[in-house]
Amino acid sequence: MAAKRKGSARKPAQRRSAKPKAQRVYSSLEEILAHRIVSRQVSSRVHEESAILASILSSASPSMRKISYRSGIRVGRLVYAISKGQSKQHAWEYQYLGRLVDFFRNIGYPNTTYSVLPNMLIIDVKRSRANLGANLHVFEAGIISGFLTAATGRQVNAAEESCCYNGSDSCRFVTSGAQQKESSDEGVVMSGFGALVAKNAVNVSGRRRVAPIAEEYQQLSLSHHMHREVVKSSSYLSLIAGSLIGANLFKHYREIPLKGNGEALGAVSKAIELMGLGSPKLMKTGPYCIKVGFSRSNSRREFVEIANSLISGMLSEYPKASFTSKESIEDGKYQLEFTKA
Ligand SMILES: [Zn+2]
Repeated sequence: MAAKRKGSARKPAQRRSAKPKAQRVYSSLEEILAHRIVSRQVSSRVHEESAILASILSSASPSMRKISYRSGIRVGRLVYAISKGQSKQHAWEYQYLGRLVDFFRNIGYPNTTYSVLPNMLIIDVKRSRANLGANLHVFEAGIISGFLTAATGRQVNAAEESCCYNGSDSCRFVTSGAQQKESSDEGVVMSGFGALVAKNAVNVSGRRRVAPIAEEYQQLSLSHHMHREVVKSSSYLSLIAGSLIGANLFKHYREIPLKGNGEALGAVSKAIELMGLGSPKLMKTGPYCIKVGFSRSNSRREFVEIANSLISGMLSEYPKASFTSKESIEDGKYQLEFTKA
């Protein structure tokens, strides 16, 4: 046994000596996630709804917007450091802007562009449109600020001037002259989101597009919600978002007939999938229940807590029935089980 291990360890050592390669040492989970996006080693993709959820949680209050912007700055700095290390070309004046745009393209927004004005940079990120009545991308404004500050060596602020979720064709970020809009009505945004997810969950058809967003980015944009002080308020907001989705999903029912059981829970299951809250599985035998499995990359306690709140919120609107949730860990991966009482 010992000899066998020794033998198998020798081969890679020989390969390394033939071609020395520096081992990257990661200092944080954020760095691992950012590195995978920059080097296009994305593990899986999630739907746009999951990105909207992260953005809504990140812009739900003035203090949350501040935390999100700061977190974006940290990520932007990381992205600059990583993409700089990977670039083999010689730098020309605005080459670094290409790397910033590439980052957004790798996330799942291939139509991201930039323009350079005398006193201002403009970054346009095109994504699917939905009218939620607010500019939601404060975390992304932070990324742009952090990246450009690191690239130019001087403080660069950025703000989202117009947003795809607020009536525009693109999310436009500018480096001067715009202020992140603070006056959005969170209640309106939340109910708009609830209606949107419910509609898409019911209308999911065979031609439903392939999920475009890097799962790494979902995790990255939720990373500042993973601190103990923040996760409580994020879970509370998820509960509200969930119940608004549920209210829209079940609005045609006063009571869900036994036959409609599977159909209604099927829609809940689709909503879970759209928001990238784990992999739902509908159990059709015995008491109806939904099992939600988490992969290795999203099996984080805090993420599971947010998912649990949101799904419980949805199910709290189920007409004349209540559900209990049970959390378990198997093989290092979380699982949530919602059973109808
Ligand atoms: Zn936007």
